Amino acid sequence: MNEFGKRGSNTNLKSDIGLDNLGNVFWNMSPAELVEDTILLGEGVMTDSGAISVNTGKFTGRSPEDRFIVCDEKTEKAVWWGKINKKFDVEKFDALYNRMKAYLTGKDMYVRDSYACADDDYRMNIRVVSELPWQSLFAHNMFLRPTDEEIENFVPEWHIVAAPNFLADPEIDGTRQSNFAVIDFTKKMIIIGGTGYTGEIKKGIFSVLNFVLPHEKNVLSMHCSANVGEDGDTAVFFGLSGTGKTTLSSDPNRRLIGDDEHGWAANGSVFNFEGGCYAKTIDLSAEKEPQIFDAIKFGALLENVGFHGESSTPDYECDKITQNTRVSYPIDHIDNIMVPSKGNEPKNIFFLTCDAFGVLPPISKLTPGQAMYHFISGYTAKVAGTEAGITEPQTVFSACFGAPFLPLHPAKYAEMLGSKIEQNDVNVWLINTGWSGGAYGTGSRMKLKYTRSLITAALTGELDKVDFITDDVFGLSMPTSCPDVPAEILNPKNTWEDKAAFDKKANELAQAFVKNFETFESNASEEIINAAPKVMVK
Ligand code: ATP
Ligand code: MN
Repeated sequence: MNEFGKRGSNTNLKSDIGLDNLGNVFWNMSPAELVEDTILLGEGVMTDSGAISVNTGKFTGRSPEDRFIVCDEKTEKAVWWGKINKKFDVEKFDALYNRMKAYLTGKDMYVRDSYACADDDYRMNIRVVSELPWQSLFAHNMFLRPTDEEIENFVPEWHIVAAPNFLADPEIDGTRQSNFAVIDFTKKMIIIGGTGYTGEIKKGIFSVLNFVLPHEKNVLSMHCSANVGEDGDTAVFFGLSGTGKTTLSSDPNRRLIGDDEHGWAANGSVFNFEGGCYAKTIDLSAEKEPQIFDAIKFGALLENVGFHGESSTPDYECDKITQNTRVSYPIDHIDNIMVPSKGNEPKNIFFLTCDAFGVLPPISKLTPGQAMYHFISGYTAKVAGTEAGITEPQTVFSACFGAPFLPLHPAKYAEMLGSKIEQNDVNVWLINTGWSGGAYGTGSRMKLKYTRSLITAALTGELDKVDFITDDVFGLSMPTSCPDVPAEILNPKNTWEDKAAFDKKANELAQAFVKNFETFESNASEEIINAAPKVMVK
């Protein structure tokens, strides 16, 4: 085993996680070295803006059904087991990891020392050991970066071992298929195999923090982006994938805290878990999203994008490999950021939903009961996109806008958020970044500039000066005017030609909300239950 690079003196792979007999071990390589290795190994190409571009292989997205948690003394009673949190035996973990170690014998590996949580009180050291150089670049981009001195004395708390080319055998290993991500809270390890999708690394640590912080440290963990205005006012944006967390939190007039994962501590601190952003690049343009476009320079890692002809210019409209094309970059690739990535108690919370049915208003102000109802529901809609023959959008309810990453029962997160909203008198807004003028197929996606103007008006207090009306189905309070936004789009019914069709769709969606909420009713107060939409009986 030959070792290269910056390596602290106190720990090693053999004594910490039993990894021995590797080939070369590259410790904490610089981005330039990792880019070089990626190109030399034929794993990636340099683009004309200096970013590197790779293909992640068979998986271009996360595989939630192949994510397991080891069930032992620490987790058995605490985790909300079910379809999302699937049990894995202690013995099975040991056996699978032994086979993984055997596979790694003689292989070159990349080690990255990093940490999560930008608030020193909650800092968690993470060592990522990966088969491929660009996975190490991803970890460098996405997690927080220790100083050279901190690397000298680095003691890892959690380990991630990621080997995309190691395939599990379900018969032997007890996995569902050849790819897997297994979290062991006692050993403090995540092992990932059979998939090169980098999001598994980032969301693995997010799942860990979603357990540790609320369960052991009284910190609410949130699937949200966050930024801070000139007056130091923090805003957070919850939302499921594709609803606009990354897009809407990069705002030239507000400093970015982070684009995806945050904690809200008892002392009011809102802090980023990560040190970078992971943005979608599909249809990205310099005009619509200049900050993200400009962040794609040397050090940034593009995934699964296409190119214009034979050139090295990415074609962001190309979805030949996947709709989920991505780029990771260190947060300082964005010019106006908070350093460190922390803010104070939020003044405004936005729930982002991409309603492809086109019936939720572009913005509405929620009562405390409605805020809890919508948080627990976690509604968005997925459009079929390129799949042939599918024209109807599908409703998605994902509790707390992040169910796949939440090891605890949703009620835990909801209770914490509810009391924080109450104590701090936070404004809560529901934003529909989805369809207007009809459902998917008839209407069109809300213009990004209107959504930005609506959010700005909420943040600057402009919306406190206007009249609101209430819709009959969802009971949502909608403004009747807003600067820089046409008044007629503020009430979605006005944008539909066929009013009867609108009522029918709104009623259908209301029914879906009510049905979804049945599971949570026994945990909810009367105030929350009363905030449910009113389904019209025919
Ligand atoms: P993930 O959790 O997967 O990172 P996300 O919530 O960060 O998802 P974004 O990456 O911001 O989602 O994706 C939103 C996408 O929708 C972007 O491609 C953006 O350009 C597009 N979009 C179109 N119209 C709007 C709008 N009105 N508001 C927000 N985003 C919009
Ligand atoms: Mn995002």
